[in-house]
Amino acid sequence: MPSQQTPQPGTPVLLGIPFDANSSYVRGAAGAPPLIREAFRSESSNSFSESGVELSAENLLDAGDLELPPDNAFAKIESAVGQLLDQGQATVCLGGDHSITYPIVRAFGTRFTDLTLVHFDAHSDLYEEFDGNRYSHACPFARIMEERCVKRLIQVGIRTMNAHQRKQADRFGVEVIEMRELPALERLKLAGPVYISFDIDVLDPAFAPGISHREPGGMSVREAIAHLHAIQGDIVGADIVEYNPKQDVLKLTAMVCAKILKEILGKMIAGRNGEKELPAPIGV
Ligand code: MN
Ligand code: MN
Repeated sequence: MPSQQTPQPGTPVLLGIPFDANSSYVRGAAGAPPLIREAFRSESSNSFSESGVELSAENLLDAGDLELPPDNAFAKIESAVGQLLDQGQATVCLGGDHSITYPIVRAFGTRFTDLTLVHFDAHSDLYEEFDGNRYSHACPFARIMEERCVKRLIQVGIRTMNAHQRKQADRFGVEVIEMRELPALERLKLAGPVYISFDIDVLDPAFAPGISHREPGGMSVREAIAHLHAIQGDIVGADIVEYNPKQDVLKLTAMVCAKILKEILGKMIAGRNGEKELPAPIGV
């Protein structure tokens, strides 16, 4: 349902991207956007972020879900995101599998110079190709770095590096913060425009079972929120990807996605208004 409001510049806008054709193991992430919205709007919780920002209809828009053609979905994603950015809106995409981050970040990269990409994930998604597919959800950050869409790529929570991916990380100058190195709050004090790509499988599957690739040993929801809150810089956009409702239990993971979404939006809105968020009293 496209919003009818006249947006203020920099207002975050939600855009659902129901796409999972580049998933390598199991499909299902295409079904995520309506379930994340349902959890986000659920009356079981209120509309404030922990940092004290109210997420109201005045400071948050919703562009609905993209209708994607069977062919050329990436071109449609890139142009839809670009259009919202050209209207001055800060786009927050709800995936979908992680392959969508490539066309999304292409749209950002042509409009923001000096962009820093903070990528939360169990996986570095840096494969040159995977199962013969260069656009697999295992490859988006190789494509993004080849095209120099961003100035810096910082990956957080990684715990599946193999020799090929370490080589790719070196080749592209990726700053990898592995799960075993956490906490790493200080390393997220950034400056300039920041884009956040949040693969929900960065969380331990005990907290977020509704994912396609369950990799134990991940973050708690609390650790993830602490690292999100620690990010400094101007957050200009974000995505939350890889929620797979077919793998979920009692829609638990949908609620976790909604929580992460609230905390990201709270930071974006506070930053836009020049407001100070409530300080985080404790670390991880
Ligand atoms: Mn990923
Ligand atoms: Mn992942």
